[in-house]
Amino acid sequence: MQTQLFIDGRFVPALSGATLATLNPHDNSEIAQVSMAGREDVDRAVAAAKKAFPAWSAMAAADRGRLLLKLADAIEANADALARLESLDTGHPIRDTRNLDVPRTAATFRYFGGMADKVEGSVIPVEAGFLNYLTREPVGVVGQVVPWNFPLMFTSWKMAPALAAGNCVVMKPAELTPLSSLAIAALMAEVGFPAGVVNVLPGLGHVAGQYIAEHPEISKVAFTGSTAVGRKIVQASSGNLKKVQLELGGKGANIVYGDANLDAVVQGSAFGIFHNQGQACIAASRLIVHESIADDLLERFTSLARSIRIGDPLDPSTEMGPLTSQMHRDRVLSYVDVAREQGGRVLAGGKAPDAAALAKGCYVEPTIVQAKPTDRVAQEEVFGPFVTVSTFRTDEEALAIANGTEYGLGAGLWTRDLQRAHLVARQLRSGMVWINCYKRVSPASPFGGVGASGYGREMGFEVMREYTQPKSVWVNVDANIPPYYPR
Ligand code: NAD
Repeated sequence: MQTQLFIDGRFVPALSGATLATLNPHDNSEIAQVSMAGREDVDRAVAAAKKAFPAWSAMAAADRGRLLLKLADAIEANADALARLESLDTGHPIRDTRNLDVPRTAATFRYFGGMADKVEGSVIPVEAGFLNYLTREPVGVVGQVVPWNFPLMFTSWKMAPALAAGNCVVMKPAELTPLSSLAIAALMAEVGFPAGVVNVLPGLGHVAGQYIAEHPEISKVAFTGSTAVGRKIVQASSGNLKKVQLELGGKGANIVYGDANLDAVVQGSAFGIFHNQGQACIAASRLIVHESIADDLLERFTSLARSIRIGDPLDPSTEMGPLTSQMHRDRVLSYVDVAREQGGRVLAGGKAPDAAALAKGCYVEPTIVQAKPTDRVAQEEVFGPFVTVSTFRTDEEALAIANGTEYGLGAGLWTRDLQRAHLVARQLRSGMVWINCYKRVSPASPFGGVGASGYGREMGFEVMREYTQPKSVWVNVDANIPPYYPR
């Protein structure tokens, strides 16, 4: 297990010697003390990245791609250890880290390994006598700040496209969950990434994170996290006007029309909100149900929620683990009181589980709350296994509820009516829409939001635009055209 900063190809302690404990959310025991980067460590990492940039960006794109492919293989070869580490540090059930997080991490590095040599330019039709072509160049040293909810997967989402495009990276994992990104750094060193190309700096948000956003020699900052911190990142980035990409919070609408296949709805909606204990920006946190089927659906949905097996994340039979920290668990549970104060009715959960074996951990039962669409619990991101339910009568009403928050990240709808499905997909104010499914993601499909959910896109070719800048080159190809304006 690596616990030090990864700078210039080596694991080193923070210059100040500072460390912070990372805890196992199953019982709040200490897993390890991890080095905490200060501003001076960010400077060291930026200097290493700057030094590595000329050679890395000039390397044949296919060779950069080959390293990413080798990394994907190394991740698969170490899948069990990585899954265990991620479960230990985050509380995700091992069956999810082994079957989803680790394979998706490898798949993302592999996808962008293949992408590296496919970032083509173009030729622009301009007036006769001139050739105008467009190339896409890497941005330089990029800073990346990620949250604690999917630390392993987000390491790949952030690093893979940046590296494929020829940038060098200074990345800060969340203070709660630094271990898996350090493990990825170790594998990168093993498969032969040049020193300085990637630097990983566990550290506090308002110290190392803030300084990454401010740093005058970082050309772009890519951030995934809360909307509140996203705003701070934008302000901090203004000094050198760095490029900013923001993947922020969400309040996913999940609309169920009267003609939907309810078996699929129940399964898909449970996955949408309870997977990863609801700690997902794209969680299906608002169930919006047509009144004609509400009773039937809620009976099935609450009974499924009550049957979810909660337990130690390292137990392969566990379906739901603890939240990632005690503080976050308390915050999620506080929303049960917020709901009740505004007249909300708890239909399932709403408390920590009774089992003595889970008493020391950060557990919350799957929670379903009937609430008005304007209530705080239906407007604010709870970021836990907490879903609100409201009903609608007309399609217009459903759309107004769905579009009625400041967020616009992911939204889902369930119907057998093809025309309605595509019409509503067009009308939803949301970066992603799932029809008769929820929370599907792929390295090939653009991911991101609108409004308070941020701007810019991860994944697919779209993210290569984020990590490159276009350069337009004009060439005079006709000797008869004078190199000045005729007078
Ligand atoms: P957070 O915003 O508190 O922290 C995210 C990261 O930012 C952490 O690494 C933290 O250390 C750092 N940070 C904190 N203050 C900072 C500052 N002043 N300057 C720079 N960095 C700072 O978020 P969180 O609680 O770790 O994660 C949960 C949030 O992330 C939720 O809102 C969730 O919706 C969002 N999220 C969004 C996406 C997406 O793709 N849209 C994906 C996952 C999570």
